Amino acid sequence: MTHDITAHAELLAVRRANEKLQPPFLEGTEMYASGQPCPMCMAAMHSANVDKIYFAYSYEDGEPYGLSSTHILEQLKKPTDQQTIEIKHVTPSDVDEHPYEMWINQS
Ligand SMILES: [Zn+2]
Repeated sequence: MTHDITAHAELLAVRRANEKLQPPFLEGTEMYASGQPCPMCMAAMHSANVDKIYFAYSYEDGEPYGLSSTHILEQLKKPTDQQTIEIKHVTPSDVDEHPYEMWINQS
């Protein structure tokens, strides 16, 4: 058992598929999950370009068992300054080179 709160089955499957299939994106793949994927896993699958997702139990089905992500979706729909996590947008200053430029130029 892992204590990694991000170790959801779908996320682990995306990571393993990327390792095995090599290309960074998973076009043409399908995901099968027992429960409706949480927002973190959905974001990973969107980022990886998974084509299709099947799930058996909805957030509503999982609610009595604490297996719903409805509360997270509600937070994500709010502007950053209205979410329960304090989120601050800080403006970088005094940088010689923009970090995104440095990142894109290294590859
Ligand atoms: Zn998940």
